[in-house]
Amino acid sequence: MIPGRFIALVYHDVHPEDAFSYGRLGRSATMYHVSHRAFRSHLDVIEGAGLRCLDEAAMRDCLAGGRTRTGPGVLLSFDDGWRGAVECAAPALAERGMAAFFFITTDFVGRRFFATTDALRRLDPSLFTIGSHGVTHRMLSGLSSDAIHAELADSRSRLEDLLGRPVTYLSVPGGATDRRVLDIAAAVGYDHVFTSALGMNPTADGRRGIARIGVKQDTTPATLRRWLTGDVRRERARAALLGVPKRVLGMRTYSRLRRLLLGEAVGREHVFEP
Ligand SMILES: [Zn+2]
Repeated sequence: MIPGRFIALVYHDVHPEDAFSYGRLGRSATMYHVSHRAFRSHLDVIEGAGLRCLDEAAMRDCLAGGRTRTGPGVLLSFDDGWRGAVECAAPALAERGMAAFFFITTDFVGRRFFATTDALRRLDPSLFTIGSHGVTHRMLSGLSSDAIHAELADSRSRLEDLLGRPVTYLSVPGGATDRRVLDIAAAVGYDHVFTSALGMNPTADGRRGIARIGVKQDTTPATLRRWLTGDVRRERARAALLGVPKRVLGMRTYSRLRRLLLGEAVGREHVFEP
């Protein structure tokens, strides 16, 4: 890994048991969630690779081209605000002094399976950075400009009220981003935008397009080791194949198709896209 460049990982929930059911959230929830045991083995892989977990300052340094001061690193992030990410993964990270980013969907706070306001307030700000992941987790690129503005501004002010500090990081739900979403995000006050594009950072879009790769329940330590070397070619090839129907059908139809392909009934509550 070249100093100054970094791979960013995105996790969702990390649950204490090896098996876990999300009830009617179904397999689309479960496939992006890992057990505490698997998560700890991932942290071992990161330590074994000699990478440090980038905090806010180190990430900014990398994005600004600070190759000399910053050694090789990896960025860890958690989307949606799942309870296990905050109550199970964060303590495991804190034990090892590893930094991470948590992106919270504000309407989910306090709901079943999701972190409470108290738990979010307890996250140590010297290690953990909190950003927005929208109010409702709707796919932003399919919304009107007013609705995008509301999703981004309202989630930001709710988190700032909750934490008592500025919130300037955004992770786009489902990675559904485009020029309009980025412009509104900048106008609302986000200076860094995390996406689901696959690749090494900094990308050509720099802080407005921080690429991330999604960790799944079946991500093995060997796969993770490969990602940490910067090799995500296999995943890019797969995304390119899936990206064709996504462009042709549009995001909403694609989501329905994807759930059908995963063997789920259409119409179930769907919390996130890869
Ligand atoms: Zn999400």
